[in-house]
Amino acid sequence: HVQLSGRNGYRFYDEKLSNKTARDFLMETKLREALLSDELQVYYQPRVDSSSGSIVGLEALVRWFDCDGKSIRPDEFIPIAEDSGLITGVGEVVLHKACAHAKQLCDAGYPLPVSVNLSPKQFEDSGLLNILDDALFNSGLDHSLLELEITENAVLGNLAESIKTLELIRSRGIKLLLDDFGTGYSSLNYLMSLPLDFLKIDKIFMDKLFQDTKHENIVEFIIVLAKSLGLKIIAEGIEEPEQLDYLKRKCCDEYQGYLFSKPLPFESLLELVGDNFS
Ligand code: C2E
Ligand code: MG
Ligand code: MG
Ligand code: MG
Repeated sequence: HVQLSGRNGYRFYDEKLSNKTARDFLMETKLREALLSDELQVYYQPRVDSSSGSIVGLEALVRWFDCDGKSIRPDEFIPIAEDSGLITGVGEVVLHKACAHAKQLCDAGYPLPVSVNLSPKQFEDSGLLNILDDALFNSGLDHSLLELEITENAVLGNLAESIKTLELIRSRGIKLLLDDFGTGYSSLNYLMSLPLDFLKIDKIFMDKLFQDTKHENIVEFIIVLAKSLGLKIIAEGIEEPEQLDYLKRKCCDEYQGYLFSKPLPFESLLELVGDNFS
């Protein structure tokens, strides 16, 4: 039967849905505790220059190991954090840890920019700019070493308002990346109007790259499009040497993926960066 639910309007009520809701509730409670007991960690995946093969940046990715040591994937808990409002707390933890680590790297002689993912709720939050300023101030990190990753659905709601927010962020020297490009509406109108620095092509295009020429062509098109807008382009989820060869031929600036490295805890990353720079 049909049930009225507050936020989402009518939806079909069934066993599966009610189970999921109970699970979500449990997850929310656990996440609340996780924030209090500092269970969230930040891992880092290198961003690599396609032509030179050197590390040119890092992406901060949240990791949650619960009290039993079990890991819970961000794909599972980020949506619940968004719905429950806990995302603000999660985001602040990630931001503060990422800035502190980036500062530590910089002081060790490796001034690598670190990008932090922002979910749509965080982007809408009126406290966002204060949170950013606090994280930069507390860590002492050079503003140019902080970058933020936003997605298309975060900015679509109110384009004019989003542009204002993005400009305020950028006026602080923080760079902006558009994440998961190609999976949303990918409207050319907003792409042209948003103040951005980087475009990230989503992994799904890389997975299908050699399936047919259509996918090769669309990736080539996105690279040319980004460049014509003055944006640097990053490919996500590169696992095969053939994918990297293709990206090099098409002059894609940077890539990330298991081919080079999985996301790593800070200590392991420090070693990898040391090797890469020497
Ligand atoms: P994303 O920002 O698009 O991050 C890329 C995801 O792809 C990461 O998954 C990364 O570990 C994974 N990945 C990178 N290279 C490869 C590869 O070669 N092969 C495969 N199979 N996967 C690869 P992760 O860490 O599980 O994060 C998933 C998503 O959760 C992220 O997608 C992002 O949307 C969200 N997320 C992660 N950390 C945060 C955070 O601190 N805050 C917010 N708001 N969202 C986050
Ligand atoms: Mg990202
Ligand atoms: Mg992505
Ligand atoms: Mg993603």
